[in-house]
Amino acid sequence: MSERILYTKPSITALEVAYASDAAANGWGEHCYDYIHRFETGFAKYLDVPYAIATSSCTGAMHMGLAALGIGAGDEVILADTNWVATVAPIVHLGASPVFVDILPNSWCIDPEAVVAAITPRTRAIVATHIYGNLCDMTVLAAIAKRHQLILIEDAAEAIGSVYKDRRAGSLAHFGVFSFHGTKTITTGEGGMFVTADAGLYERVLTLSNHGRKRGETKQFWPEKIGFKYKMSNVQAAMGCAQLERVDELVARKREIFIAYRDALQSILGVALNPEATDCTNGFWMPTVVFDQTTGINREQLIAAFSHANIDARVFFDPLSSTPAFQAVLTNVNSYSIPFRAINLPSYHDMTTSQIKRVIDCVIGLCSA
Ligand SMILES: *Cc1c(COP(=O)(O)O)cnc(C)c1O
Repeated sequence: MSERILYTKPSITALEVAYASDAAANGWGEHCYDYIHRFETGFAKYLDVPYAIATSSCTGAMHMGLAALGIGAGDEVILADTNWVATVAPIVHLGASPVFVDILPNSWCIDPEAVVAAITPRTRAIVATHIYGNLCDMTVLAAIAKRHQLILIEDAAEAIGSVYKDRRAGSLAHFGVFSFHGTKTITTGEGGMFVTADAGLYERVLTLSNHGRKRGETKQFWPEKIGFKYKMSNVQAAMGCAQLERVDELVARKREIFIAYRDALQSILGVALNPEATDCTNGFWMPTVVFDQTTGINREQLIAAFSHANIDARVFFDPLSSTPAFQAVLTNVNSYSIPFRAINLPSYHDMTTSQIKRVIDCVIGLCSA
């Protein structure tokens, strides 16, 4: 049997090991924030935003951003039905109501027209998730947010390396959040980042992130309000610094792998892959194939074929409204249809040409069966 192809795997070199070892050996006492501050500064520079706060997860970054904006009971937050549960959990924790809308059939990202149709007097915010690295229509969403005086948020957990026109994904809204979970393009094991250009929001999230203790507070152990404990450790940040030094290399490899898939598969009738607009760059975190209904190819066949070829079969996100925590929104037809005829393809830095070919052969084999 051929070696199993995982859907993802981090790329950890001597650099990450050296920085993490240094943090573990020396990053204490007066040096306990050195890598954290360096990672935040470097990340803000990479994104070209003034403020970044390292967090223990993307979920935590989202939770604090929403809390700092005062989102809570009675408020509605609009987001795509196609999403990871991490995007909606903080909305629910704060007592606000998530409103799930459909995705566009080609980008698999939130449909701006569906957003407009879902706005009520209780709507406070829109979350734009750049799914699998694909970009939301930020120009249109920003115009909608402005017209209706709503907050626009970017979930850029999957979109490191994606660029919308001349701005990096995550830097285009009121605030953006990132994930450094082990499956993401850059990783610290677990971890996240909150970014914003709003100085006031930055200070509020900074205070919330430190148990409600304000920066510069001279009284010890003195929270001014109840906050959260969503901080990143210095050892994790050390890994983050190394990954950030390699971000261009890591994204370039993601793109190479995607382009190999695209070159081999795009000519097959009824097969669509992640789109890339001419004025945008897709970081291609997760290469994905969606089969047209006319092909008759379904999720079960895809899972079986991948399993037979000893390749991880990672399914397309089911609509959140279809999970037990929520009520089904069956009018979200794209969110409810695409997952049943789609699959994510493996993509990690050290994938070999022959592994990529095995994945391609598996998909082609299914199409010609
Ligand atoms: C991974 C992911 C998250 C959550 O990240 P954590 O760091 O695990 O909290 C949120 N949103 C999306 C779209 C993700 O893919």
